[in-house]
Amino acid sequence: MTDLLTRRTKLLGPRVPTFYDQPVHIVKGEGVWLWDADGKKYLDCYNNVAHVGHCHPHVVAAIAQQAGTLNTHTRYLHETILAYIERLGATFADPLSSAILTCTGSEANDIALRMAEAVTGKRGIIVTDHTYHGNTTAVAQLSTTNPSAFADDSWVRFVPAPDSYRLLGGQAGAAHAQAFADAVAAAIADLEQNGPGFAGMLLCPTFVNEGLPQLDTGWLDPTLAQIRAAGGVVIADEVQPGFGRVGSHFWGHQRIGITPDIVTMGKPMGNGHPIAAVMTSADILGAFRAAFRYFNTFGGNPVSCAAAMAVLDVLEAEDLQKNAEKTGAYAVEQFQSLAAQHQMIGDVRGCGMIFGAELVIDKKAKTPAKTYADRVVNAMRQKGFLLSKFGKHYNTLKIRPPLPFQSDHVDLLVAALDDTLTELGPALE
Ligand code: PMP
Repeated sequence: MTDLLTRRTKLLGPRVPTFYDQPVHIVKGEGVWLWDADGKKYLDCYNNVAHVGHCHPHVVAAIAQQAGTLNTHTRYLHETILAYIERLGATFADPLSSAILTCTGSEANDIALRMAEAVTGKRGIIVTDHTYHGNTTAVAQLSTTNPSAFADDSWVRFVPAPDSYRLLGGQAGAAHAQAFADAVAAAIADLEQNGPGFAGMLLCPTFVNEGLPQLDTGWLDPTLAQIRAAGGVVIADEVQPGFGRVGSHFWGHQRIGITPDIVTMGKPMGNGHPIAAVMTSADILGAFRAAFRYFNTFGGNPVSCAAAMAVLDVLEAEDLQKNAEKTGAYAVEQFQSLAAQHQMIGDVRGCGMIFGAELVIDKKAKTPAKTYADRVVNAMRQKGFLLSKFGKHYNTLKIRPPLPFQSDHVDLLVAALDDTLTELGPALE
């Protein structure tokens, strides 16, 4: 372990992130389970990349079969890329039916920004003040969670992220939604008057990095009205909520009741194989192609498409969206029972197979217990449960497992968390 860490720093450079005080050296995965080099077994409560389960045999076979037949770039004709986009397109409302396939979510968001520019002739983008959308030079400027030392965000405006626990504007429901829409309207005006004009807003429709606020269907309607009135486009980053994870719907934007102009997706799409996409209307794609010449050597190659197609097969065959809904609801119930016993759990939030518990020092004052959350995550890792933290204050436990996660896995997780909170005692910092 020490040797791997030393070599890692030497070869990959300093500040390459690893999870946990004592990093984990995973060597094998199956379903919702992972094993480290010492044979210790971990319940994966975190990874959305292995969307249909680690090393799912159907996906592995599809990749192997296609890799043994043909893999090229996308300047040749190939059926699978077309069949895949048709099948993916069927999960969206009209007019979202045309796509560009890429290798990463970052590239997908980068293209989406250029699409917004192509359609509006303007460059200004609005995002929330606690988000991550990727790592290209352009997209990194939007990502407050991984800030750059050399940011040029003159074309970006940040609005306060929605928060259902510490309400924006202090009020719930329609007033909370309106407070967000008002902030977006002010940012639009500022981009128009003092910036490069307003091109659009890029948002995660379930605001996962922001801490998964509980927002009703229609919550984004006043915001969308502002964006559309100003002639901007709406880009939904579905890298985290997409592909059935939110349970009630296939996409996060469907759950909150909007139809974006552009949708980006990535991580879960190939179950670990690097494939991502931008889905939009034929008109927007046409405007993009007219404005930019774009080619992506690996994006949409036959092996990636075979992997992505196999993921859709498994989602359907194993009814995993339904499982996300059922298991996610059960998890929230169990977490709420835990919250009744442990005063440091200030709030429980869930949306299908993403759920979280916000840890606080004082339930009344809602003081974030950030250091305590770190201790909980590390103690859980020692017990064999992999999870993380999210939200503005990084004090909310982030649980976002592969979709085959079942209620008995929830029971194991909740029992371990119960023990951990009892062992650690009250949150003091
Ligand atoms: N958007 C969101 C919401 C993400 O979580 C991520 C990855 N963490 C990205 C975009 C970037 O995706 P990638 O790492 O595949 O470039």
